[in-house]
Amino acid sequence: MPRRAVLPAGVSSASFARALAQLSKVVGSGHVLTDREALLPYEKLMLAAPADEYAPSGAILAATVEQVQGVLAVCNKYRVPLWPISTGRNFGYGGALPATRGQLILDLKRMDRILDVDPVLSTALVEPGVTYQQLHDHIAERNLPLWLDFPGGGPLVGPLGNTLERGTGSTPYADHFAHACGMEVVLADGRILRTGMGSLPGTHSWQAYRYGYGPHLDGLFTQSNFAVVTKLGLWLMPAPASYRTILVQYSDDSALERAVDTIRPLRLAGTIANPCALSNAGLALTAYMRRAELYQNGGAIPDNVVLAAARQHGIDAWNLTFTLYGTVEQIAPNLEIVTRAFEMSGGRVDPDYHDPSQVNELNLEAFRLLDWVGGGGLVWLDPVSAARGADAARQRDIARSVLGRHGFDYLAAPTVYGRDLHHLIALVFDHGDPQALQRARTAFRELAAAFLHNGYGLCRTGIDYMTALANAYGDVNVAVNRAIKHALDPNGILAPGKAGIR
Ligand code: ADP
Repeated sequence: MPRRAVLPAGVSSASFARALAQLSKVVGSGHVLTDREALLPYEKLMLAAPADEYAPSGAILAATVEQVQGVLAVCNKYRVPLWPISTGRNFGYGGALPATRGQLILDLKRMDRILDVDPVLSTALVEPGVTYQQLHDHIAERNLPLWLDFPGGGPLVGPLGNTLERGTGSTPYADHFAHACGMEVVLADGRILRTGMGSLPGTHSWQAYRYGYGPHLDGLFTQSNFAVVTKLGLWLMPAPASYRTILVQYSDDSALERAVDTIRPLRLAGTIANPCALSNAGLALTAYMRRAELYQNGGAIPDNVVLAAARQHGIDAWNLTFTLYGTVEQIAPNLEIVTRAFEMSGGRVDPDYHDPSQVNELNLEAFRLLDWVGGGGLVWLDPVSAARGADAARQRDIARSVLGRHGFDYLAAPTVYGRDLHHLIALVFDHGDPQALQRARTAFRELAAAFLHNGYGLCRTGIDYMTALANAYGDVNVAVNRAIKHALDPNGILAPGKAGIR
């Protein structure tokens, strides 16, 4: 059955048709997609919400900065809202779909040039469509001693989109925005801004120094809708002389608090340079089996059942992996220090572990999580706390109680980045089952609200919760974002609703 055409809010079908005709002139008619079949790849939603609520009116595939400028001019003229995406995966946060129904997706995957990789300074400059796989291959083909830091989506996603969302990985360069240097953005009125040193004529240091002169603007273009980002500078990690990945396991649930309080000083001292993720038994078990093989009764799986199954696969209540990087001489004393500290906290230390994501090996392991129940539903929650054991334990208790009440398992990896801890929680469900979807929707909203009520703000969220989360950060925050939005995009054509900003 043909679907009724989706129109941008407030735009008549005649006006939209004129806009599309002009957009075809800008990008070529083959790069303006409006029919159902062509839009299907953009419409897959993992979140606990019906995809139809977020259906796009079409997709435009621009190939150059000039085309992006041309698209913006047309969209300003006809007030057509545009939702920019880069590699468009955004797994577990909304995929390629816009925050409100009827936006036109501006797909930048055709802009996929690696503009520079500098092995001396360990930097790169990339366009939006560049994937981690592509950058990894580029570096490998040239045999350059540079490492990448992959987010959970691994090879499929790209550094530009992930950095704009302030995504994270698993090496010492895990905080992607902290390792970005210089942006090129196209403002809604078509002007091009290069941040940091990038606007200085004859600059040689765009990817070397982040701040330039005056206000540091780059943050404005992350988790926002103030511009279309067309280039991003990256700092890459020089390949270390050697490394050693360590697994620390705790056999009782109550060890979480001790573990976090042991990790924090080692992270702050720099003895451990990468994030410390403590996977719980449930999350670790998803790599080995499906839920139905373990449990068919209603409700969340009892903890003792999860733990018994986990132990058969060498998993325990809490499983921490981190890596020591450097020369053999540097690693040896650090290994002694961490071994002593973790053993004193009651952990068992295995100093010969392997975790691909911590050592520059692309992998798709994170996707096994989706097989736990099947059906493709996935929502991430990442409430932030200070890196204190008591907070991690409190977050765990909140999550377990809310999820359990709705029959969901607590699958989590509280992760110490430094002074902050992100309690990463996966809510997986069968998206094809309307009852499961409704249950997941209720559980997600209740859990997010419970975290906020306790002062634990989420640091990223899906398209279905952006406004609620932005509002939770307070009226003044909302008003300042709105004022910037109006100054830079007076017609409000860029991604309305992104990060709750309109
Ligand atoms: P990934 O595929 O790496 O997960 P996406 O391309 O899906 O990343 O981008 C994640 C989000 O970041 C998008 O939903 C969009 O809101 C924003 N975004 C992505 N690319 C751009 C861009 N070039 N300019 C502005 N915002 C962008």
